[in-house]
Amino acid sequence: MKVAIVGCGQLAMMMAQAAQRLGHTPVFIAEADEHTQSVEGLGLIVRRADHTEHAGLFKALGEPDVLTYEREQVDIDFLRAFEAYTEVHPSIEAISATQDRILERKTLDESNIPTAKHVICSDTQALSSATRSLTLPLFIKHPRLGYDGKNQWVLKQEDQLDTLGITEQHFPLLVEQAVSFSCEMSIIAARSKKGDVVFYTPTINDHVDGILVKSMTCSDNQQIDLLQPAYQHVSVLLEKWNYVGVLTMELFVTESGVVVNELAPRVHNSGHWSMDGAKASQFENHIRAITGDALGDAQAQAPSGMVNLLGIDALPQALKMNESAYWYKKDVRPRRKMGHLNVIEQSDELLADRLKELVDKLYPGLVSLRKVA
Ligand code: AMP
Repeated sequence: MKVAIVGCGQLAMMMAQAAQRLGHTPVFIAEADEHTQSVEGLGLIVRRADHTEHAGLFKALGEPDVLTYEREQVDIDFLRAFEAYTEVHPSIEAISATQDRILERKTLDESNIPTAKHVICSDTQALSSATRSLTLPLFIKHPRLGYDGKNQWVLKQEDQLDTLGITEQHFPLLVEQAVSFSCEMSIIAARSKKGDVVFYTPTINDHVDGILVKSMTCSDNQQIDLLQPAYQHVSVLLEKWNYVGVLTMELFVTESGVVVNELAPRVHNSGHWSMDGAKASQFENHIRAITGDALGDAQAQAPSGMVNLLGIDALPQALKMNESAYWYKKDVRPRRKMGHLNVIEQSDELLADRLKELVDKLYPGLVSLRKVA
């Protein structure tokens, strides 16, 4: 089948590689100014702006059988129009509800899924009163442009509000209370066209300055028990959206249960371990789902982990057996996701130690990624 992917970054690259391995042909839709190095050589790249008619774009892409996307920020009107020509997965309902954090909160609230205590502020006055009605510290998030610590602010003291650099143009904003969590985790599910669902082994995630630094699979049964409500929440959303493909739920684990932070209607950085650790990676299962195939085994075959390669384009030393580096062919920039390392180990303890060792080598004295060049 011909699989059109909106976006040309590393997630598109890894989805395309999985599609090729399954015998499909990937093609890419790029925005006018989008960098395409990561997907060059993997298939035809068509710039959306070069075609004013959707029919022309559909033809230029070689009439794809299905269209998917690597990011949430996709023009919904374009997806709706394109649905007249080909299937779009995951559903437009799912991407519409998740591409805006304020709408996402509404969806989660309506489904009775617990999130951090929050208010939506439409101007500076509302923001200022939120600093009094909520308990500090606060996480202040732009509904669309906030990711990897960008367009997000942490307010520790009320009198620091003016120093954050928030302007009128940033509103409306989602303002939430800090969650006191024991760890951050993510649940990645894939749902097929027939409605079968597989869950990847849950992943424990470590962030610094809002950027994921490392992830490892979790095999602790006590921890997994705590996640049961979250599995329910994911299942509810998959059904609600008649979802086909991979859906990610990021959450905080607290003493009183799970608190959902964010949804991503796509493959996710915290699932990259599955390229080496599971029989069917998240990329493979996403492609299997959207092309109407049965899903593969999503369980970790052994303790598996990942370290992001941020702002660097070479490794300080060679890797060991059962470790692999993946590079995204991007130009190096501070904090930019340039690649990742996957590590498979025999036990959770060995894996945790090795991931820590790698992080210490890659980012000596890591306290803040703002210092990583
Ligand atoms: P996000 O962009 O919402 O995924 O936030 C990035 C990271 O910032 C999260 O993975 C957490 O480490 C941290 N964070 C965001 N919101 C909160 C919150 N309400 N409480 C505590 N930590 C948070």
